[in-house]
Amino acid sequence: MAWEFETDPDFQVQLDWMDEFVRTRVEPLAEVLDSPYDVKNPRNVRLVRPLQAEVKKRGLWACHLGPELGGQGFGQVKLALMNEILGRSIFAPTVFGTQAPDTGNAEILAHFGTPEQKQRWLQPLLANDIVSCFAMTEPQGGADPMVFTTVAERDGDEWVINGEKWFASNARFADFFIVVAVTDTQAPLMSRQSMFIVPAGTPGMEIVRDVGVYGEKVASHGYMRYRNVRVPADHILGGVGQAFVVAQTRLGGGRVHHAMRTLGEARMIFDMVCERVVSRGTKGEQLGKKQMVQEKIADSWIELEQFRLLILRTAWLIDKYHDYKRVQKDIAAVKATMPKLLHDIATRALHLHGSIGVTDEMPFVNSVINSLWLGLADGPTEVHKVTIARQVLRDVKPTQDLFPSYHLPRQRAHALAMYGDVLEDLQGEL
Ligand SMILES: Cc1cc2nc3c(=O)[nH]c(=O)nc-3n(C[C@H](O)[C@H](O)[C@H](O)COP(=O)(O)OP(=O)(O)OC[C@H]3O[C@@H](n4cnc5c(N)ncnc54)[C@H](O)[C@@H]3O)c2cc1C
Repeated sequence: MAWEFETDPDFQVQLDWMDEFVRTRVEPLAEVLDSPYDVKNPRNVRLVRPLQAEVKKRGLWACHLGPELGGQGFGQVKLALMNEILGRSIFAPTVFGTQAPDTGNAEILAHFGTPEQKQRWLQPLLANDIVSCFAMTEPQGGADPMVFTTVAERDGDEWVINGEKWFASNARFADFFIVVAVTDTQAPLMSRQSMFIVPAGTPGMEIVRDVGVYGEKVASHGYMRYRNVRVPADHILGGVGQAFVVAQTRLGGGRVHHAMRTLGEARMIFDMVCERVVSRGTKGEQLGKKQMVQEKIADSWIELEQFRLLILRTAWLIDKYHDYKRVQKDIAAVKATMPKLLHDIATRALHLHGSIGVTDEMPFVNSVINSLWLGLADGPTEVHKVTIARQVLRDVKPTQDLFPSYHLPRQRAHALAMYGDVLEDLQGEL
């Protein structure tokens, strides 16, 4: 029996170091660099590489990896606590070697890649010498894989890919693309698609345009076209028809890490609004002394703590079972809660800052926008809620009776049948 809400003192020392390092050395990067994924830009090389070296020296580089890939083999709870700190800065994941989507892409290369694929792509990816892109969504739909039409056909020793991809993040910076394509149009959904590694610069592959999320410094979500793009047969990742199986591996732990980074961003915003309401006043009184302001502070604090517990329990369950499928409902709950949490906390903070809150001199609008895309990327919130509800209802037994099994008259009759005699006897004694 062990219910712990404390961190090992040894690991806490590492977290404290990370917290100080991210606040003082990493957070300023976002003010002077454009994108953490522009890894070959001399400015990034000059500023980011020395910080990465410090992280490596401290033994905190790419901690999501198992020991076989040079990681520490930290469980998900430790990773969650680390990611909470990394959420303060968009550069922090890159400085610590844990930036999405490279983490997910590295995970599937490690699981399903051939020795040649690992040698060529995984090693430089883990070193952050290159970055990668995951291209699955198509212009006609992302949430429903049945509508994907990009195809890969076998032609001798090659696969030939044709189609379009949409919102392929970091396409402009990537050295290789993991592209999902239909390999058997007649097969059931679970086995109709396969994944391919397509090196950047392969003839026929084109970025039609880079689409920008509102407020992003660099538009970096590629609208891509593939016209007779040829890759050698050994560029398939996993087997033919295995895209679905491979994709499942990719998303499990990553969602928990992403949620904890979102919590870190929300907490940073919360700290800001706390400073504001004790620093500013109106009508002769501090904002923080007004009850309607206090309610907003209290609601934000409660939501932060609730979400933190949900994530940590989910991380703990993953460590316990080592089986993402078994924890699918909990992971979906974390994913579905994340956008609303950030949205509500950022919106309250923005509002309590008054006019300066809506300006580009403050980070709140940016966080509100982040909360909106968090509800779309990696599947819309509705889809994750459907997963939760299906799993919750899966094991519930229906009653065959006309009235519910918990109908109060029935419960009363049952209680009387059980205890009625005793009560009657007692009545005689009283
Ligand atoms: C910032 C960002 C980064 C991204 N990066 C990548 C990437 O690197 N690679 C990649 O392949 N894709 C990426 N995507 C795409 C993302 O996976 C899709 O946006 C997502 O799957 C939704 O697809 P869609 O945009 O086509 O929306 P649609 O599928 O058109 O859905 C639109 C809306 O319909 C509703 N809806 C959809 N399905 C259901 C349902 N089952 N039940 C009820 N309502 C539903 C929801 O409200 C949903 O928001 C990214 C998206 C964003 C915003």
